[in-house]
Amino acid sequence: MADAKIIDGKAIAADVRAKVAADVKRLKAEHGFVPGLAVVLVGEDPASKVYVKNKAEQTVETGMLSFEHKLPAETAEADLLALVDKLNKDPAVNGILVQLPLPKHINSEKVLNAIDPDKDVDGFHPVNVGRLWIGARSLVPCTPTGSLILAQTVAPKLAGLDAVVIGRSNIVGKPMASLLLAQSCTVTVAHSRTKDLPGVVRRADLVVAAVGIPEFVKGDWIKPGAIVIDVGINRVPKGDGKTKLVGDCDYASCAAVAGAITPVPGGVGPMTIACLLKNTVEAALIQKNIPALG
Ligand code: NAD
Repeated sequence: MADAKIIDGKAIAADVRAKVAADVKRLKAEHGFVPGLAVVLVGEDPASKVYVKNKAEQTVETGMLSFEHKLPAETAEADLLALVDKLNKDPAVNGILVQLPLPKHINSEKVLNAIDPDKDVDGFHPVNVGRLWIGARSLVPCTPTGSLILAQTVAPKLAGLDAVVIGRSNIVGKPMASLLLAQSCTVTVAHSRTKDLPGVVRRADLVVAAVGIPEFVKGDWIKPGAIVIDVGINRVPKGDGKTKLVGDCDYASCAAVAGAITPVPGGVGPMTIACLLKNTVEAALIQKNIPALG
């Protein structure tokens, strides 16, 4: 089999952002408002600071309003909850994202559950989890949404495909399984206790790897021609004292067998913020009872 088609997440994320920018213009012209995203950062975690900066920059680039709230690491849980309450009530704020991880003295679940579900652009609130599983209009976690969009670029009709999701986290694995079920895939969720994982993966027409173990999925697990979506982002030593990013799939061996595959970096990664922006527009539409924009 020839080498797999490489699914270009950077280019597809740019398309998603362009659509968001067009939707923002349309909302301004037809409905007289511009959606706004509030991002809350507590503390000085270097990776979180970079994510928040990128989110704010890309929000502004799509024409939306960006509200950044940077709080010191010692912020009391009650003060953070008070800010969330204020943002819930602010009509200029359509999306609220509290950057994780939060400092240890703050109960993350309590804070995330305090966000108005209709402003919960991360899609982590139990109300959105429930809405997703019953097929109601909801805000869906960004990484699985982006992964689905990538798969659909190579297989517009996923119905009937055997899909195997490796990983059962609330952030990636479980919502991914729900999204694929909604596309009428036959979905298997594999995890750390799955028996004969290579055998399970070999049945899949579509594999989504969200394991967190570098280069875990091997090419001889992949059915020839299958679609491979690699969610993993792992930093590993390069051998020269420097580090590099690799996915949860052993790229070279998987690409030799798959029909299409996402690279790391440049696959699922860029889709996550693009889908956050998409969710901010969707949140605004839900709040204003406007049907999805075509
Ligand atoms: P997690 O640690 O919460 O979950 C990992 C899952 O893998 C668990 O459900 C576990 O059952 C499963 N697992 C662990 N060992 C296994 C094994 N030996 N065999 C089979 N399954 C096994 O991780 P997560 O938050 O879901 O993230 C998964 C990966 O995706 C990580 O590499 C993370 O960095 C990456 N990630 C990327 C993005 C992005 O924007 N691209 C976003 C979130 C997570």
